[in-house]
Amino acid sequence: MINVTKTYLPPLDDYTAYLEQIWSTAWVTNNGTLVLRLEEQLRHFLNVPHLWYCNNGTIALQFALKALQIQGEVITTPFSYVATASSILWENCQPVFADIDPQTLTIDPQRLESKISPRTRAILATHVFGNPCDVDSIAAIAQKHQLKVIYDAAHCFGVKYRQQSLCNYGDIATLSFHATKLFHTVEGGAVVTQDPHIAQRLYLMRQFGHINDEHFSLGINGKVSELHAAMGLCVFPKVAEFIKIRQQLSQYYHQLLHFDRLDTIVIRPDTDYNYAYYPIIFSSEDQLLRAKKALESQEIMPRRYFYPSLNILPYLTRRDSCPISESVALRVLCLPLYVGLQDTDIEKIAHIINQSLC
Ligand SMILES: *Cc1c(COP(=O)(O)O)cnc(C)c1O
Repeated sequence: MINVTKTYLPPLDDYTAYLEQIWSTAWVTNNGTLVLRLEEQLRHFLNVPHLWYCNNGTIALQFALKALQIQGEVITTPFSYVATASSILWENCQPVFADIDPQTLTIDPQRLESKISPRTRAILATHVFGNPCDVDSIAAIAQKHQLKVIYDAAHCFGVKYRQQSLCNYGDIATLSFHATKLFHTVEGGAVVTQDPHIAQRLYLMRQFGHINDEHFSLGINGKVSELHAAMGLCVFPKVAEFIKIRQQLSQYYHQLLHFDRLDTIVIRPDTDYNYAYYPIIFSSEDQLLRAKKALESQEIMPRRYFYPSLNILPYLTRRDSCPISESVALRVLCLPLYVGLQDTDIEKIAHIINQSLC
């Protein structure tokens, strides 16, 4: 079976070497040596001043909203994973959805600005599939209306925009290191900020708001175990090579698929992309369903991602219409992309899809 993704697991000996270290000290969590080492490597690789590794990418989003003391309306994208919207609701804020640009699939700054009300406090936007948002326009709007900016950078590991790490944009950027992501620690995430005061707040939040016996502020448990950090330390050295391999696989898809009858995402110029996903956009949902069924009959499992458009989630109390996102969400499919996928697999997948378009 070929799945949309396959988690990279390092040679077992690499992992057990770290386990032996953990066993020798019996220090398994609470900012252990391996967590600190991985954090340092990530700061260096991502070229970010303040980064805290935490237990998942969703709590990272919740930390971000909390650390910036956001209450009220948060303008966000309907074209993202559900965690982007649910974290806003979970923090008792009101998500307000602004539609996306049909080419880059990121939030449309003009539509975003039209949604600003006296209750708006922040913008939470996703760099969709690792494609940078229009960060300049968003920064200008945020400054004009005094709004905080949070970027869900869950897909952005290793992406650079204008030679600068994409994680360095916004007041806070959040990452996910879930097993399905390009770089993973089984479960995990991180918060990144430029501001040392916000960094200090985030640091305390992750560990119940206290250092030893001194309590400073409200916190929760966002800490990571040494066993997770050990996985990260095994996977991390491979990431640059993985990105190269994924680039080659993506280019092969691109060469074989019939793009006169298909569409895909337009990556913003000046982006060093990480090839985290390979999305294709059909001209209709019917066509998508036909291709998906044909693939599944050959045990190939693509994923409807993102689907559905988040503005139509059943538990929302406010309705925003986002026709572009709603339409794209019905027509977008992410194709299998992982290290270990063979050229012959890609040929087979592309052939099935091209056939289904006739
Ligand atoms: C994966 C993902 C998340 C959630 O991260 P977890 O680590 O699974 O909690 C949030 N936003 C986006 C866009 C994601 O892809």
